Amino acid sequence: MDAKPTAICTACNRVLNEGRSVTYDLLFDLYFCDDACWSDWYAENWAEYRRKWTEEVDL
Ligand SMILES: [Zn+2]
Repeated sequence: MDAKPTAICTACNRVLNEGRSVTYDLLFDLYFCDDACWSDWYAENWAEYRRKWTEEVDL
C-alpha cells in the first residue's frame, strides 16, 4: 500500500501516473495529459492563457 496520490486529467479523466510529464494549470490547480487535453478544456483565449498559467511538470 504505497500508492501515492495520482493526478487525473481534467479533460478526459485519464489517470496520470507518476513519472510522466503532464500539463499543469497553475491558476486552477488542475492537471492534464498534454496540451491537447488542456486546450480542449480551456476553449477560449487558450494561447494567451497558456503563456501565463501552464507549465509542463513531471509527476
Ligand atoms: Zn487527458
